[in-house]
Amino acid sequence: MTKSKNCDIRLKRRPSGLPRPDDFELVESPIPSASKGQVLVRNLFMSVDPYMRGRMSDRKSYVPPFQVGEVLQGGAIGRVVTGNDKFAAGTYVLSQAGWREWFVSDGADLVKVDPTVAPVQAYLGVLGMPGLTAYAGLIRVGGLKPEDRVFVSGAAGAVGSVAIQIARAKGCEIVVGSAGSDEKCTWLREIGASDAINYKNADLGEALGQTMPGGIDLYFENVGGRHLEAALSAMRLHGRILVCGMIDQYNSAEPTGPRNLMQMIAKRLTMHGFLVLDHFDLMNQFLDDMREWIAAGKMTWRETIVEGIENAPGAFIDLFHGANTGKMLVKLAEDEV
Ligand code: NDP
Repeated sequence: MTKSKNCDIRLKRRPSGLPRPDDFELVESPIPSASKGQVLVRNLFMSVDPYMRGRMSDRKSYVPPFQVGEVLQGGAIGRVVTGNDKFAAGTYVLSQAGWREWFVSDGADLVKVDPTVAPVQAYLGVLGMPGLTAYAGLIRVGGLKPEDRVFVSGAAGAVGSVAIQIARAKGCEIVVGSAGSDEKCTWLREIGASDAINYKNADLGEALGQTMPGGIDLYFENVGGRHLEAALSAMRLHGRILVCGMIDQYNSAEPTGPRNLMQMIAKRLTMHGFLVLDHFDLMNQFLDDMREWIAAGKMTWRETIVEGIENAPGAFIDLFHGANTGKMLVKLAEDEV
């Protein structure tokens, strides 16, 4: 059904701790129209990502904070409704103009996506920024080797589930993931994890000892907190820790550090933080490899899809409750062009 209004989501006030629905507001406005040379895009899907929590706080970081009262931003896939010379009507485009249903653009910030490889929303997950994060982290930053014993936390999410499968596709035999439910752990085994740990009902240290008795060579860190502490104790000599994210800490007023950082000395560990932003030059190589792995059945994915822009704040908040398996997305419109 075609709507006559554009809805967007704005930050009403900066969250304190875990964001609440009333930290956000839904605002209606007329659907914008494209001027000469511009395109009008109708968003089909938008992404909610844990990193957005950092942008909701007023502090200096690698991306500027969201401003109270302004429309939020983030990854979105849309379809061009009114085209220009570069983007014909009907083209699917990736943008950072999420959290709104419609927008106009001169096209400089749009990237065409190929709908024949996978459903277009995959470019927000497995074929997009989260997938590239796993790829760049493991392969370029982490120097993944087939003999590595790999542990991935947050393994049933968008980044983690790709990390598990890349490690397997690259020949690693011991690839263990942690996630917050037995269902998620079952899925991790289905996609190739040699074992999986439900961190909510296990002692992480003991579970790592059982699932990785030889220890960890490469830890892909998505969580922080007690995961990092348990992993430090289970690391092998010269092990590497890739610090991708620390979702356990994002809503904490007083983040906690591991008590056993001293393990780094005797074990000669390396801890390497990284941002996907620095690795977009790998995009073509990443997409080539992903196409090959998908065709070979070595890369699959799941999505948790919430319907309607009014439910986007809830979908975002639910990331911190583990409501998603694979990529969390918000569907904004039917693809009916
Ligand atoms: P996910 O799809 O993994 O969604 C978040 C998941 O985190 C939830 O489903 C939940 O799963 C888990 N989680 C939430 N709170 C906790 C907690 N307190 N302890 C343990 N697990 C928790 O998100 P992404 O894949 O998009 O992101 C994963 C990580 O990667 C995040 O930390 C993110 O910030 C980071 N990231 C970093 C990038 C970079 O450039 N460095 C780029 C992209 C993401 P469960 O049921 O298992 O608890």
